[in-house]
Amino acid sequence: MSTTLKSREMFIDGKWVPGTGREHQDIVNPATGKVIASVPKGTDEDVNLAVRAARDAYDDVWFDSTPRDRSERLLKLADVITLHGEELARIESENVGKPLAPTISEEIPPIADCFRFFAGAARLLEGRASGEYMKGFTSILRREPLGVAGSIAPWNYPLMMAAWKLAPALAAGNTVVIKPSEWTPLSLLRLAELAEDIFPKGVLNVVTGDGEVVGAALVRHPGVNMISLTGDVATGKIVAREAAATLKRVHLELGGKAPVIVFDDADLNAVVDGIKIGGFFNAGQDCTSATRVLAGPRIHDKLVKDLVPAVESLKVGDPGAADTDMGPLVSEEQLERVSGFVERARKAGAEVATGGARIKRAGSWYEPTIVLPPGPEAEIVKREVFGPVVTIQRFSDEDQALEWANSVDYGLAASVWTRDVGRALRMARRLQFGTVWINTHIPLVNEMPHGGYKQSGYGKDMSIYSLEEYTQVKHVMASLD
Ligand code: NAD
Repeated sequence: MSTTLKSREMFIDGKWVPGTGREHQDIVNPATGKVIASVPKGTDEDVNLAVRAARDAYDDVWFDSTPRDRSERLLKLADVITLHGEELARIESENVGKPLAPTISEEIPPIADCFRFFAGAARLLEGRASGEYMKGFTSILRREPLGVAGSIAPWNYPLMMAAWKLAPALAAGNTVVIKPSEWTPLSLLRLAELAEDIFPKGVLNVVTGDGEVVGAALVRHPGVNMISLTGDVATGKIVAREAAATLKRVHLELGGKAPVIVFDDADLNAVVDGIKIGGFFNAGQDCTSATRVLAGPRIHDKLVKDLVPAVESLKVGDPGAADTDMGPLVSEEQLERVSGFVERARKAGAEVATGGARIKRAGSWYEPTIVLPPGPEAEIVKREVFGPVVTIQRFSDEDQALEWANSVDYGLAASVWTRDVGRALRMARRLQFGTVWINTHIPLVNEMPHGGYKQSGYGKDMSIYSLEEYTQVKHVMASLD
């Protein structure tokens, strides 16, 4: 892995610029604790410049682009991502601490496919009806872009979350100003470099910097027509509040606390494998992570007995090594957060079945952990930990499983494990989550929508529903006289 210290610039109006501020942010490799790059901290003025460039590009070029033109450019970008897949994965691995091999095999292909899906979808955009609904008049529906989309991305899947925002926004005919997380801007900056010759100047702009400065300026800006945020629930609430001042559209993909409901008749081996992968992929820093296991009265003890050694067999170490299952947490701050949750759970009477400690080496490392919480109201089962920590609770019957599953503020994803089809579908209907898996946990596809219920946010990523988020519908009515 390269560890060259690189000074990066931001991408505004088709040019690489140092930004108008003086401050820089060091970018750290969490596997080593070493600084690997430095990026400018953007300012209000950088946001103004980027929004102006995006607005000009929208008015002058992009508004008149045809779906086919946009589609062809998105396909080119998908090809370039595939071509540079290993390089992008290396950057992501170095910046986030992700194991390299699964980043190459599990993240890059769906990122390229996201652009391919929306390249196709761009050509299918249509208004649903046109006809005569009043005598002497013809109605036409137009589905139109919003204008300038402001996108704010998190650090856990920096490139994938950026793709989920950029692809539908550009396909629908919007121009974009996007802000990566202050901790993980490197893969998006490289993507912008790769896209430099693909899009007209100003169509895609990247402003780096802090959420409270760059993100907040985007949210406030009257020239931004829509904000799409993926991040914490608390950030979502601030963004929704601030966006109200200009009544811009808001799309929020926020945190989760996915229940994994395991009935007594479930296939135990499949459950163990599912949690081993779904609870610890990306070191559990995943909004849909299989983090909150609710097990039936008879399967609970067997599940704990089998899951503990399975989790202990996870290989934690050098993200560059081919057999590594889990790398570090993204930062020292995140490590503090995760260990704080486990310590407070311990004090409240939880049993830590395995893990539960920091791994002593340079960087931000934490053991894969299983916690048996003291009760259904424990903080560790109610709040998103966002780390390699899985809790297991014993429920008594289906009603209690459902009640506990729905008893959190979040509503992003859930899974049900049972051989009883009727029960699986009954649960799927009553679970208050935007995605429900049956006998699996974690796979997503670009054709299907992903988004929250309750405080996990509103709006959808991926699928044709996401394209709708980035468009508005106009009724044109003409007199036939
Ligand atoms: P975060 O909310 O701290 O930051 C997300 C982004 O918002 C960052 O770019 C940050 O700079 C920006 N931001 C922070 N304060 C802001 C403000 N006041 N105004 C505007 N922007 C601001 O979240 P994070 O820690 O980067 O990401 C982890 C969170 O994201 C978790 O809660 C996770 O569940 C969630 N997430 C959700 C999904 C989903 O699809 N629902 C996917 C990935 C991550």
